[in-house]
Amino acid sequence: MATSKQVNLLRELPAVDEMLRQDEIIKLLQSHPRAEVVEAVREALNNAREGIFNGKITSVDIQMLVNDVLNMVKLSTVPNLRPVINATGVILHTNLGRALLSDRAREAVQEISRGYCNLEINLHTGKRGSRYSAVEGLLTKLTGAEDALVVNNNASAVLLALGTLAKGKEVIVSRGQLVEIGGSFRIPEVMAQSGAYLVEVGATNKTYPKDYERAISDETALLLNVHTSNYRIVGFTRETTVEELVQLGKAYNLPVMCDLGSGFLVDLSPYGLPKEPTVQETVKAGADVVTFSGDKLLGGPQAGVIVGKKQFIEKMKKNPLTRAVRIDKFTVAALEATLREYLDPEKAKQNIPTLRMLTEPLENLQQRAQELAECIENKVRGMAEVNYEEGLSQVGGGAMPTAHLPTGLVRVNPKKIAVEDLVTKLRLGEPPVVGRVQDDSLLLDVRTLQKDDIDLLVQALYRAMEEE
Ligand SMILES: *Cc1c(COP(=O)(O)O)cnc(C)c1O
Repeated sequence: MATSKQVNLLRELPAVDEMLRQDEIIKLLQSHPRAEVVEAVREALNNAREGIFNGKITSVDIQMLVNDVLNMVKLSTVPNLRPVINATGVILHTNLGRALLSDRAREAVQEISRGYCNLEINLHTGKRGSRYSAVEGLLTKLTGAEDALVVNNNASAVLLALGTLAKGKEVIVSRGQLVEIGGSFRIPEVMAQSGAYLVEVGATNKTYPKDYERAISDETALLLNVHTSNYRIVGFTRETTVEELVQLGKAYNLPVMCDLGSGFLVDLSPYGLPKEPTVQETVKAGADVVTFSGDKLLGGPQAGVIVGKKQFIEKMKKNPLTRAVRIDKFTVAALEATLREYLDPEKAKQNIPTLRMLTEPLENLQQRAQELAECIENKVRGMAEVNYEEGLSQVGGGAMPTAHLPTGLVRVNPKKIAVEDLVTKLRLGEPPVVGRVQDDSLLLDVRTLQKDDIDLLVQALYRAMEEE
């Protein structure tokens, strides 16, 4: 039961109409749909009623209600999908959108989004063209393959390749390579989905060419090598190399497919990173079909790239599934621009954010982290303990699981609020900030911070701690 004081307060609440006559609300109505503003007014009044009942509101203040409405309408116009500051140090953070595009790729997408384009018209002949032609030439040039096709991600590339080359037939895979990528992408399940039959050979740690050879039958359509991109089997191991598979394939007239996962076009082992097979090396080793992601280590848009021998790629192009997994014009634009960067591999390492973050010298990272620690310290003075320290970043995206990436970190220990509260506030702020929580502190890794992030991050930290 409401007390008489509560009843009086409820009576004091303005009607919706009265709210709509307030100056600031009239102004708001000029730039926002009436229905949206009315809904916000109702919600503000409902919240106030609730506040009166639970004793949180002890006087009615119209200005406060107006402010609530202004905030609600402002919040409702913030896009659901929006930029986030990644202070986790995970370069290919799947939850934060994986690879960042290069400036050139971004400009290309913007340019193409502005008007019509030659997506499927051959400007030389005036006849119908292929949407893949913009990237085919670049892909064959960069990888050394005969032909190329791009679909909307590597999962669909694998599905399309298996479905085209081995439907109703058997595919031989090593037991050490039955990868799960995340979600429900597991090689055995993709295989089932494609209509091909999985034949597992060897053991988890050792698979010899003769294991594959013994499993070959009239039903065999394909020899498959899956790069164990997100785990490593170490110790007492023996993997059958792509070269060995190719030899077997030649002897038995069977195609060999490699799912590389990450698409590496440059060798980053000189930077202290693990040696990963590049696409070029895999093509050169004789693989007939090679698939990889566009937005893992390649550093481009989400896409699944398939390169290889013409006879197999042509067959895939004719598969009706290709239409269901085709890329849009923005992907073509971003991928073309990204591939163009690789024509000059030295520049690619600077211009493609993924490669830049992977190869940034430790001294730079340390210096940036020390500067960031100082900025934060100066801004939040007294509200947190702020320290510089060294630690490790991660490649992420299921790539290079064993990479060792020393980095510079800032450790923040808030004094007035709990770390969990700080983390929540940062996540809910604008722009949202995501960091790492470790040993009851917030850790900020500078490796994944972009040029314009620093100021915003410092302010976000200040606001999150100040508000209490
Ligand atoms: C990541 C990965 C995939 C899936 O690629 P998406 O582009 O995420 O669809 C498939 N196979 C391997 C080996 C991978 O690492």
